[in-house]
Amino acid sequence: MTTTALIDFPSHNPATGEEIGRYRNYTAEEVAAAVDRAHASSQAWQALGFSGRKKILVAWNAVLTKRLTELAELVALETGKPLSDATLEISLAIGHLDWASKNASKYLAPVSRNPGLIMANMKARVERAPYGVVGVIGPWNYPVFTPMGSIAYSLAAGNTVVFKPSEYTPGVGAWLGSTFAEVAPFADIFQVVTGLAATGAALTGAAVDKIAFTGSTRTAKKVAASAADRMIPTVLECGGKDPVIIDRDANIKKAAEYALWLAMSNAGQTCIGAERVYVHQAIADEFIREIGAMAKEIHPGVNKNYGPATMPSQLNVIQSHIDDAAAKGAKFLIGGVDSVQPPYVQPTIMLDVPEDSLAITEETFGPTLTINRVADMDEAIRLANATRYGLGASVWSKRNGEKIASKLVTGMVSINSVIGFAGIASVPFGGVKDSGYGRIHGPEGLHEFTYLRSVVSERFALPIAFTTFKRTKFADKFITGVMKFLH
Ligand code: NDP
Repeated sequence: MTTTALIDFPSHNPATGEEIGRYRNYTAEEVAAAVDRAHASSQAWQALGFSGRKKILVAWNAVLTKRLTELAELVALETGKPLSDATLEISLAIGHLDWASKNASKYLAPVSRNPGLIMANMKARVERAPYGVVGVIGPWNYPVFTPMGSIAYSLAAGNTVVFKPSEYTPGVGAWLGSTFAEVAPFADIFQVVTGLAATGAALTGAAVDKIAFTGSTRTAKKVAASAADRMIPTVLECGGKDPVIIDRDANIKKAAEYALWLAMSNAGQTCIGAERVYVHQAIADEFIREIGAMAKEIHPGVNKNYGPATMPSQLNVIQSHIDDAAAKGAKFLIGGVDSVQPPYVQPTIMLDVPEDSLAITEETFGPTLTINRVADMDEAIRLANATRYGLGASVWSKRNGEKIASKLVTGMVSINSVIGFAGIASVPFGGVKDSGYGRIHGPEGLHEFTYLRSVVSERFALPIAFTTFKRTKFADKFITGVMKFLH
């Protein structure tokens, strides 16, 4: 039996393994039908205009806000994360939905352009038109915040959306779909198609006009290949190997406290989580002492600092990275080769980890952190950039933060802070290299879900014809003369 033949599939509580719900496993035909329906409702959604759409999105946000705890409980149940983390995640998503709905008219309004001297008889403007139907594919680690970066901005820009949530968080996806339906003026503006990987593949092969994918780099490449076949544009938000760079003039205690949270929270399952620290050798011992003492107080479990690995197979990846680092001579400040205790992973901090270790070169996606000493910030920057990923970074220095940040090959940097860029709705979110391309959030996130249309029109007719077969020798001479005069 193929997976698409399954009518439904279970969602589990990753902490207990208990089945907590069953969801429809949408077939390729059902996905195609959903996309067709999204096309059918697209014109009406566009016709509502910015203010009409804003009313609906603000109403949806009010439902999310009112029922925040209910949604947070569902997120906590399906991902295993603490309720407090789920609440923070949803709060950030609410901020983005609010920003997108209220700023779309400003950033997507037509812009007049100067036609230039030689075309002075024309007027010109640039419009931004919605693509039509956007297919959104999301991961399980932040099942509300992450897809909302595409859903909210796509809808605000005038697209209809078909959303495929991760098979680990189908209940959260279904909840978002049903609450939108409560405020929708008509059907099929925002649809959710639950299912396994084949459902996501079906969405990338359906008649969508743009694909917004968040997930692993491996799957992103498959999505991009499928889209390239039909010249469908994509925005790809993929994995990371984010560095934390700590200079000798940093506030060491604060850097340790924040780096620890950035590495361990959400069980390390954060695309912009800390995976590597490069610390100036002059303060390395003190930093290691501080972070080691703080890490002893961090524990996984139900109602503890972080939950289980949401996706059981990730435990094998985490174990292999720890084993590889140990075999290559890394020392353990906290944890060790026995850190993986399914479904949990104990906090694990490795020191002096060879740069060719998997824990340095591949995304671990677990509550682990490597700490390596550097002679100076040039070395820190070189090592931070020596990765195939380029998502986010955190820099700690009283005086050199801006200088270090400007040399990092990443889409986002937080100075003397962590992940600030995810919470500020007005700045774009995304990466370079294997971390993907395109941007969600901010004006650029709205632009991402529109295409450009240049519209020019004649203001007054010229006595000389240039763009007809009636062009004369005089016209040629005139053009040459004007060009010589101008240039
Ligand atoms: P996956 O790539 O495994 O899955 C992402 C989504 O794609 C899921 O909905 C999945 O469905 C679906 N999918 C799987 N195969 C295909 C396919 N062939 N075609 C289309 N869709 C498919 O990633 P994870 O869910 O494991 O998410 C974790 C990854 O996401 C990490 O690498 C993390 O760094 C990254 N991430 C990046 C973020 C960013 O903004 N840059 C934010 C959050 C996470 P199913 O679950 O049913 O297999």
